[in-house]
Amino acid sequence: MAPAALSKTSASGEPETARSPAIEIDAVGKIYESSDGAVTALGSVSIDIREGEFISLLGPSGCGKTTLLRMIADLEKPTSGSIRLHGRGLDGLGFVFQRDVLVNWRTVLDNVLLPIDFKNKKPKAYRDKAMQLLATFGLKGFENKRPWELSGGMRQRAAICRALIDDPQLLLMDEPFGALDALTRDELNVELQALWQRTRKTAVFVTHSITEAVFLSDRVVVISDKPGRIVDILEIDYPRPRSLNIREEPKFSRYSRHLREVLDRHDAARKV
Ligand code: ADP
Ligand code: MG
Repeated sequence: MAPAALSKTSASGEPETARSPAIEIDAVGKIYESSDGAVTALGSVSIDIREGEFISLLGPSGCGKTTLLRMIADLEKPTSGSIRLHGRGLDGLGFVFQRDVLVNWRTVLDNVLLPIDFKNKKPKAYRDKAMQLLATFGLKGFENKRPWELSGGMRQRAAICRALIDDPQLLLMDEPFGALDALTRDELNVELQALWQRTRKTAVFVTHSITEAVFLSDRVVVISDKPGRIVDILEIDYPRPRSLNIREEPKFSRYSRHLREVLDRHDAARKV
């Protein structure tokens, strides 16, 4: 399979030319200064992410995925290069962290309303919306529980609701399902796909899982480390909605094998 020449139409069937970039990442590098000296987390990364696109960042631990996501969210500054967000910019952004980071002394409902508090908006006006989101993600009846009363999957669902509460244009997710068991992860993959199809938010999703990346994405961006850089971009040409069964199909296996080979090749080169 040819690595990622952009096809004329996307998996969603829209012509690429009709979709403007939501995020322009231009020669972005990041060097951390630590007590052991400088760590180059990212070399030079360039990619345009299109409006309404679902993109996955796939790569080994330590290759700079979190760093890139945090720079898009302006939680970290690039050392070189630039990142431009279009549309509502940072105001239109929701972030789901690697760990759910719910606040233990707040109820599930009040956790979902947290970003509204932070923005000094009136939580009351968003209460119905929060209840609706929780219901959509199977958390009806759990609104007044505390996070520690929920399972891992439910906590991640609540974290996604929180990221969505202010209707972001852009949804950034850092391995949101990495700590979940396989069945819960499958369920959440299907729920996330349904949400994305309904809302068409631009989504950047970090994962270690090849299967998850192929299942969810329009494009999978493979990042290699030392220093972190893009080594492949694979377009996933599957119509939606995608059922979990597509994972058994030969085409899905070809996508997965291609990504596995790219990762292995760069892993082997690193160990030489
Ligand atoms: P990933 O999310 O792909 O696992 P990270 O973006 O977390 O990778 O980290 C990329 C590299 O940068 C790693 O070598 C990591 O140790 C280093 N790094 C990340 N954050 C910091 C920091 N705050 N200070 C120093 N080094 C860091
Ligand atoms: Mg990470």
